[in-house]
Amino acid sequence: RLYNEVQDLKGNIRVYCRIRPFLPGQSKKQTAIEYVGENGELVVSNPSKLGKDTHRLFKFNKVFSPAATQEEVFLDTQPLIRSVLDGYNVCIFAYGQTGSGKTYTMSGPNLSSKEDWGVNYRALNDLFQISQSRKSSIIYEVGVQMVEIYNEQVRDLLMLFVSFDLHTLGIWSTTQPNGLAVPEASMHSVKSTTDVLELMNIGLMNRAVGATALNERSSRSHSILTVHVRGTDIKTNAVLRGSLHLVDLAGSERVDRSEATGDRLREAQHINKSLSALGDVIFALAQKNSHVPYRNSKLTQVLQSSLGGQAKTLMFVQLNPDVESYAETISTLKFAERVS
Ligand code: ADP
Ligand code: MG
Repeated sequence: RLYNEVQDLKGNIRVYCRIRPFLPGQSKKQTAIEYVGENGELVVSNPSKLGKDTHRLFKFNKVFSPAATQEEVFLDTQPLIRSVLDGYNVCIFAYGQTGSGKTYTMSGPNLSSKEDWGVNYRALNDLFQISQSRKSSIIYEVGVQMVEIYNEQVRDLLMLFVSFDLHTLGIWSTTQPNGLAVPEASMHSVKSTTDVLELMNIGLMNRAVGATALNERSSRSHSILTVHVRGTDIKTNAVLRGSLHLVDLAGSERVDRSEATGDRLREAQHINKSLSALGDVIFALAQKNSHVPYRNSKLTQVLQSSLGGQAKTLMFVQLNPDVESYAETISTLKFAERVS
């Protein structure tokens, strides 16, 4: 069974690190990444080379070097995604500072080129293919929601009419597995990858509109694409439900408190709060604590049904290879180390 391939996850939490390449025009820069091992080891070197802490070793389930292709990354993600069709709830995050490749990994840089497709499109494509191949025994239905969380408010990104006054959504908390986390958000039935591409384009457009109004919002909001799957067994009529949350998190960079004021400061505080709430939830799950603090942020409330219990979690830890990003790289890696 496919599920067995992902059974070995410690507490069902897996962490993959991905280092993005230097961008064109950045080629003469120095890197802080000293070594990438075959088995998930990563060594980061401190550019100041002073003191004892010149090199640090981290270990994750997997580290993708800058040369890794979208396809290679997806191959290691696929078993997890397929388990959704067996009735599991799966949550995949991209975490890292702005510019580290979160959107590249989740969505890809270019929707028109299949090769560039990120995890989102490949996942949906794969789900459709597998469900087709099972259609003589199970009929699958797939529904998609896409929301954004900005300053602790949830906004539907798939409303067909964009409104400037943010339509915010409440959260219907449910402890039922596979329950809809945001039932007010529009749910769109999809039958093919083309349907999904169309919807995601609307979602991206809606996000971009918010961005011009509020200045580059995409790096300061979390975007969540949720795929709901319902499978009906043709013979027995038994129904199974699974869900997949694909999350492009807000940039994790620290904002200088002495410089940020007003809106920027408020945004930064909300991002800090929700990312640490996420870290606390995953940490509590990894430790098998009896109390898991889901209520501390909208992000963890929305994702509650796919964090913990039988759910499987994968975090992509995104790194910018640049020495100038050293401090952010270490802080990103420490966050990841705590939950892995
Ligand atoms: P983030 O979403 O974390 O802010 P982006 O995904 O927008 O970062 O990536 C920043 C820039 O780096 C973009 O121009 C993107 O196309 C590029 N990039 C990121 N990851 C890769 C990669 N693995 N290969 C090539 N280019 C990448
Ligand atoms: Mg981004």
